[in-house]
Amino acid sequence: MPNKNREKLPIIGISATLIAVESGQFMGLERVALGEGYIQAIQLSGGIPIILPILKDRAFIRQQMQFIDGLILSGGYDVSPLLYGEEPNKNLGALCLDRDHYELHLLEIARDLHKPILGICRGLQLINVAFGGTLYQDLESGFPHALQHDQKSKPEEATHTVTLTACTKLQQVMQENVILTNSFHHQAIKDLAPGIMVNAYAKDGIIEGIESKEDAFVLGVQWHPELMLSKHPKMLKLFRAFIEATHLRRTE
Ligand code: MN
Repeated sequence: MPNKNREKLPIIGISATLIAVESGQFMGLERVALGEGYIQAIQLSGGIPIILPILKDRAFIRQQMQFIDGLILSGGYDVSPLLYGEEPNKNLGALCLDRDHYELHLLEIARDLHKPILGICRGLQLINVAFGGTLYQDLESGFPHALQHDQKSKPEEATHTVTLTACTKLQQVMQENVILTNSFHHQAIKDLAPGIMVNAYAKDGIIEGIESKEDAFVLGVQWHPELMLSKHPKMLKLFRAFIEATHLRRTE
């Protein structure tokens, strides 16, 4: 359980998405949205979650970042391939360019301020792109021998194995060599960025986890641990390690 004796619990900013209202009086209006799972996972780990809306002005984004102790880059839309020098493949999903640019700023400022960063699904992909890597825009067309990474089962169900790389931060956190994860992605890392190392692979060779070699805590996973907690509570270890990193940073 979180240590209640800590003077002040860390504030965790979670990037959000925009979704358009589909019917009724406000049809077409955009709303800020975030899956509840992130909120629950951060509370259970001893952090105060706050939702980060998409901002445009860099000075505003910097102040937003100064206010928080750790950053979660959440899941959502595909990352624009233009950001890694490719034109769109016909199977590319929906994009949100404002969110891409906002999150790239967030990530850069968070690194500059040495704030711990946890990327989930799209968040992992965005970290790789920000560091100079590329993505498979669509696994079905770009990586034909991929196993099923866009599961049909419920979010809390684990559907494929992930092998953790020895001596990585992720393996030290999970204390296991093979774990079971859910999987909800049709994109994945293609060329790994400089400064990044792989900490987890699926059996088909797809990269399922990464961490920065240069930062104290910049880590990404391709699955959704926040959706697995009801059936796989050990996924909380990942969020606890992230929260712990915010405490360590504050005592630097
Ligand atoms: Mn997967």
